[in-house]
Amino acid sequence: MNNALTGQSQITEIRNVFVPDFFDFSVAENMTVKINDGIIESVAPAEEDVPKRSLETDRDDPGVIDGGGMVLIPGMTNMHAHTAMTLLRGSAEDCKPVDWFNKHIWIYEQGLIPDDIYVGTLLGGAEMLLNGVTAVADHYFAMDRAWRAYDELGMRADLSWALFGMGDAVEQNLQAALDFNAEYMSKSSRIGISMGPHSPYLCPDDFLKRIAGIAGRDGLKMHIHVAEDARQVEISMKEYGKTPIEVLRDTGVLSLRGEAAAPTILAHAFYATDSDFKIMAESDCIAAHCPKTYLRGGDSHDFLPRGLAAGAGLGLGSDGPASNSTMNIAEAARLAALMGKSSSGNGEKAALAQVLPLMFSGGKVLGLPNYGSVVPGAPADLVILDLSTPEMFPGTNIFADILYGLDGRNVHSVVVDGRLVVRDSKLLTVDYRALRDEARTIASRLISTEADAPMQEY
Ligand SMILES: [Zn+2]
Repeated sequence: MNNALTGQSQITEIRNVFVPDFFDFSVAENMTVKINDGIIESVAPAEEDVPKRSLETDRDDPGVIDGGGMVLIPGMTNMHAHTAMTLLRGSAEDCKPVDWFNKHIWIYEQGLIPDDIYVGTLLGGAEMLLNGVTAVADHYFAMDRAWRAYDELGMRADLSWALFGMGDAVEQNLQAALDFNAEYMSKSSRIGISMGPHSPYLCPDDFLKRIAGIAGRDGLKMHIHVAEDARQVEISMKEYGKTPIEVLRDTGVLSLRGEAAAPTILAHAFYATDSDFKIMAESDCIAAHCPKTYLRGGDSHDFLPRGLAAGAGLGLGSDGPASNSTMNIAEAARLAALMGKSSSGNGEKAALAQVLPLMFSGGKVLGLPNYGSVVPGAPADLVILDLSTPEMFPGTNIFADILYGLDGRNVHSVVVDGRLVVRDSKLLTVDYRALRDEARTIASRLISTEADAPMQEY
């Protein structure tokens, strides 16, 4: 099974584009971006008037893209995903979170084989690239297969092999993760590795301390679920007298700012208390906010305004497609803004200037300081947007248009690490048609209604 296509262009120049600045809300017109070996070399106004024409790659030089007056933005980062769960999309609907896990997802996951992870990751990666998402922090199993998928997709990724601190296979699974880390650690400058303990509720304190020790020894960051719902916080308080985030602080999963090799990714932290937010603000961590997952589970509150006010590190995640259907970070930003405003009863909260930068906040996690900016020295992970669709007009405020209206259909071209991976809204790196058929076959094998009996309770 091999879905990779070859022959994509290495881009050296993108000309004739508008470049919005998501921090000062200015828009630079008719800009030329020069790229050298995957790094942005310069961003400057065009030296001469370039005739406007439809977007095309120069016939004589396939490394040059004429943007035809379209809009160039940085690639977006999906800070928390279980990408291969694309295969379980639509398999558990209209249920409580506890039933979603115990009566559906954990049962179907028993049937997963490593090659399924490859196909499911290709499918999710294709979706992300076609939506302008160029980097993802993926937390799942069989990450060697996921690695291969991201390599073929030409996408940037940070991979955490999911580790459970209880059950029969603790040591075996940890060893598989360590073997993966050793083999793949330095294999690609585009694909990094983290330690992925699942959560405080599935990893006892001693196990968390052990994983934190390994991460420190190997210079890796960590990626862990925490405080996803109110029940987890209640149980933690009852059993340990601490919130789940306090457990992470006390087991060394969180370090003070400046002390860790890289920030810990806290998937969700949705039920962080005010004192938890204080801990988060003092620690090297980024909470991946996944609003669609919570909204679908019937949950909504003012996490985002409180996290912003506390100065906690924040980013946006899709979570797995079995709980949120899509892996579209522009949509996550939109829902985050709407949840922030509606739950606080204040339309001034979760403002454009606060929410838009969260779409591009992957740099710290990826270890690439300028990631998510169109500036010299930043990696050339770039998205060309076609904003000629009706909902983008009259274009009075393109920042509001992007936050509240952007869709995959606006994503014209995508460059990752200087390489053109999407053009004309078509994926260039992977045979998408073949992939769809493979994904359908696997999903029908995994999802069986006969299996709908609780497997275990967590
Ligand atoms: Zn998750």
